[in-house]
Amino acid sequence: MNQSADQNPASLPEDYNESLKHSFCVLPWLHRFVNLGGEVQLCCTAEEYDHSYIRQDSGQPINISDGLSDAQIDATRHMRDIRVSMLRGDWPAACERCRITEETGGCSRRQAENGHFGRHIPWILEHTDAQGYAPVHIRSRDYRLGNLCNLRCRMCHPRASKLLMDEWNKVARLQHKVTGKQAREYLNMTWFHSQKMWEDFTDQSHDLEHLHFAGGEPLIIPEVLKALEICIEQGVAGQIELTFNTNVTKIPKRHRALWPQFKAVNLLCSVDAYGALNDYIRYPAKWSTLARNLDIIDQEHEALNLRWAMLSVTVQVYNIFHLDQLIDYCQDRFSFIRAMPNLVHLSIPDYFNIQYLPDDLKALAAERLRGLRDRLDSAGVVDGLGQVDSILAYMEMAEHSPYIMSEFKRVTTIFDRLRNESIADLVPQLRPVMEAKIKIGDLGSWLNMAISRIRWLSGKIRKRLLA
Ligand code: SF4
Repeated sequence: MNQSADQNPASLPEDYNESLKHSFCVLPWLHRFVNLGGEVQLCCTAEEYDHSYIRQDSGQPINISDGLSDAQIDATRHMRDIRVSMLRGDWPAACERCRITEETGGCSRRQAENGHFGRHIPWILEHTDAQGYAPVHIRSRDYRLGNLCNLRCRMCHPRASKLLMDEWNKVARLQHKVTGKQAREYLNMTWFHSQKMWEDFTDQSHDLEHLHFAGGEPLIIPEVLKALEICIEQGVAGQIELTFNTNVTKIPKRHRALWPQFKAVNLLCSVDAYGALNDYIRYPAKWSTLARNLDIIDQEHEALNLRWAMLSVTVQVYNIFHLDQLIDYCQDRFSFIRAMPNLVHLSIPDYFNIQYLPDDLKALAAERLRGLRDRLDSAGVVDGLGQVDSILAYMEMAEHSPYIMSEFKRVTTIFDRLRNESIADLVPQLRPVMEAKIKIGDLGSWLNMAISRIRWLSGKIRKRLLA
């Protein structure tokens, strides 16, 4: 640790947490995110960006199975550069998603986390030196303890749900297929047995204030229970707030028994549509089970020690025309679960990204969303309306791509055949996309795709020849 105690503490402008006024975020000081394969990344909001993979000074991305301690990870040049950059007011490359969210008028995770952990900011400013070193106090951990899941969502990947392996390789283009080596990795993940990780977790549990689990499906992953049991054994559960991203297909008894021992529990319930469309996207979920579990959460929240619960919706091509139905359901049905779901735009895989829809379908989706917004507005709903605006703005940030939409058609057709389903029956608005033929005017988009394929193939060949 090179920290010089006598240096002047860093400072922030008063409006640092307003949109785009600054880039400071508490997470690089007090958060640890470990992704599905044991990769250490900055935070899950940044996970799609290459720069979010925290690297050793050698340039090697860090994996939990490397056995590095929290202190070693926190002292890497990469982590320090991110901290220094944030204190200077520059956006680190990994934080693009928060920057875009703020640019499109949404409330970013940066802003939310700064609000939540605001009491630690004076300490951060006082104890960070000019090289970005700071003492290790992990207050918040976000662990994806493997890829055990009971669903095979269409926008998912076998890395996150091993059950998806066979279908994925039937759907994916050659360059995205899971290789034999990857398949063995995805089917036999063991990094979460790392002794060092559990030692650090146990030894530093007194610092913990927040534990977040996603998956896989965290409520069926055994190591999630192990983490909760350690916190209880260490006598620190009462200071820790738990948050789960769950598909709400199950609320296991053991979890129900442990949750009341924690400070509070929060649930982000991954539900993407109302009724049969949700089961189509998040196959093979059953709406009747989900609806029953959501009612349990809504009605038994005190016994379950819930502080809050809300639906988290991955906004994509499949559900953009029916978001209003799900939001209306939440508004009418629940008294504890928040009436406005959390709307998260999907960016990859690009063929499910709403930005690439044809212009007439974007206009149709926008009309429905504006109608919903106006209805909620006149009913006096205030919370969360900005999210609808943010989705509308996001949809317009890129132009329609005939090639990407043809990929949507190809992927959807294969999934539909394998699962004996039909998107046109559930979302008739998408019928024109499913029946579209290649047009002369679209050839530019196809040409770009062909060039990128040739580049990928020649890169592969070059790599083989050099190996
Ligand atoms: S600014 Fe956003 S992406 Fe960056 S660390 Fe904070 S929450 Fe994560």
